[in-house]
Amino acid sequence: MKKITIAFDGHSSCGKSTMAKTLAEKLGYLYVDTGAMYRAVTLYALRNGIMDGKSKTIDEAALQNVIGSIEITQKREDGKVRTYLNGECVETEIRQMEVSSCVSPIAALGFVRKQLVACQQQMGKDGGIVMDGRDIGTVVFPHAELKVFVTASAEVRAQRRLAELQAKGDTKLTLAEVQKNIEERDYIDSHREVTPLVQAPDALLLDNSNLTIEQQNEMVLEWARKAMQK
Ligand code: C5P
Repeated sequence: MKKITIAFDGHSSCGKSTMAKTLAEKLGYLYVDTGAMYRAVTLYALRNGIMDGKSKTIDEAALQNVIGSIEITQKREDGKVRTYLNGECVETEIRQMEVSSCVSPIAALGFVRKQLVACQQQMGKDGGIVMDGRDIGTVVFPHAELKVFVTASAEVRAQRRLAELQAKGDTKLTLAEVQKNIEERDYIDSHREVTPLVQAPDALLLDNSNLTIEQQNEMVLEWARKAMQK
């Protein structure tokens, strides 16, 4: 069967990554989490004094100087996809709240996007890939055979994200704080000057507010099968 390119885009914390990862596993495709790449750049900037976590100010010149030398890779290990920053596994660090609250301003920088998009296009040049992010169907792979745009209400997303954080032992945050972060990221992602988050005209919309994980997985698997037969 034809090896196609599948693009998942949508709002923060709507379960895109889990769904995209499951689909990639079922199809035997490569899975790439592009949000993790922007998060890794953010972690680098925070650790190296390029971004101030409190004021959110960024030394853009300093970041521009080093962006080409930051190495980000993803490896599938024991059924999990882990992100590496310059050889160090940073999967836990990039999911922490400090990174979540600083990532959107970093992702709004044109030179950061240019670097990461080129890298993502290289990863997917042979097809057989499921990639998730905010600009995959619009910028990275505008000719993807299947594009899915995922969303859910901000409240449902906040509840799911909080449960996820609590399961990892992070119990300090309230539902309101998590929802605020989600809404802020939605706003910045949808209003940034460089390639804002929009649904591609040919993307299939999946609102999973009232769907179970199994239902949404089945839905996208069906869409993928159809796209492969075209
Ligand atoms: O997908 P995730 O929530 O981990 O992404 C973190 C952030 O990275 C998003 O809020 C967005 O600001 C940015 N991002 C992006 N373009 C992508 C993927 C993520 O701007 N392709």
